[in-house]
Amino acid sequence: MSGISLAGVQKRYPGGVLAVKGVDIDIESGEFVTLVGPSGCGKTTTLRTIAGFETPTDGSVHIDGNEVTDAPPYERDTGMVFQDFALFPHMTIHENIAYGMEADGDYTTEEIDARVEEMLDLVELPGVGDRMPDQLSGGQQQRIALARALAPQPKALLLDEPLASLDKQLREQMQVELRRIQQEIGITTVFVTHNQEEALTMSDRLAVMNDGQFEQVGPPEEVYNDPDSRFVADFLGTANIFDGTVSAVENGYALVDCGDVSLQAAAQNGVSAGDDTSVVIRPERFRFEDSAASNAGVASADGGTNAGGTTVFEGEITFKRHLGSSVEFHLETDSGREITVVRRSGMDKRGPGDRVAVSVAADDCRLVEA
Ligand code: ATP
Repeated sequence: MSGISLAGVQKRYPGGVLAVKGVDIDIESGEFVTLVGPSGCGKTTTLRTIAGFETPTDGSVHIDGNEVTDAPPYERDTGMVFQDFALFPHMTIHENIAYGMEADGDYTTEEIDARVEEMLDLVELPGVGDRMPDQLSGGQQQRIALARALAPQPKALLLDEPLASLDKQLREQMQVELRRIQQEIGITTVFVTHNQEEALTMSDRLAVMNDGQFEQVGPPEEVYNDPDSRFVADFLGTANIFDGTVSAVENGYALVDCGDVSLQAAAQNGVSAGDDTSVVIRPERFRFEDSAASNAGVASADGGTNAGGTTVFEGEITFKRHLGSSVEFHLETDSGREITVVRRSGMDKRGPGDRVAVSVAADDCRLVEA
């Protein structure tokens, strides 16, 4: 299997749009990397540059150590799957899967037949080779599209929103299935999605894209827990974000004045007093205090920081939502802020209208650039 490297890749379309503004990444052999970001941020253009459907305006693309920047798609040895499956409607499933191998001209009929059977087993659809595409469900057609891409044993698999047109349940099943197949054959994979949940659950690493650039590249846990920017924090998962100014830095902790509340956060990125910053707190990092009254000594009416390095907010639950294994609470603090808190299901009986206090430890508050 093979790695993929992009160095300084830029793409300006003929109309003048600079869709990709210089991206660098080394994708290891066998790695599953997801390009995730909002619509129009340049994900598909980056993927198409790897596939060879677009030539970069600047920079280079290497696959398996060979420069392919200007090589046409058929010389790159990649398999691609699109959102709309793109199966050939007039061909049987067998013919669809065999297509790439037939086009190569390097295989005997016996080899092709054996490989098609192997691929049908891999995607767990044995015996459908004689059917036409419209005799399969959407999810089954997408598995066949995957089998077709994998049949010629490409060096890398490139997936452009392949699950986007499936309903939620099927989509979740296919996420697991796709990952199983990818790991089983150990193929280097680049996956494009604007669905942050999908990116977080499937990937070895994510590249979060914004306006033609990679904002952050890293394993899902790291990008989620340790976002480099306000954009990444906001785009991936739910984030409580407090904008403010650093009023002091002491013993490795920054005190951030956010107007209605002073938040203590582990000092990062060399912040110093006077810097504008944003404090990111993930909803599951808040804890309910036993009762609002018990915190009267440490919290101001609008929330405050106690000596133990936690910040406490008091307010009222306005909304409660069951998410299955967890429960999401929306709080309005006494200073009028909206806070989202997530706790494990069954852990407490609080509900709308209840007065509560929630606390967050300084080490669970992440500073990012404002
Ligand atoms: P989406 O999630 O909506 O598919 P994306 O992140 O994949 O978006 P791209 O399709 O790569 O984004 O598009 C990036 C930018 O380049 C957009 O502003 C888009 O309008 C522009 N663009 C894409 N294709 C072309 C083209 N062929 N000619 C001119 N501009 C283009």
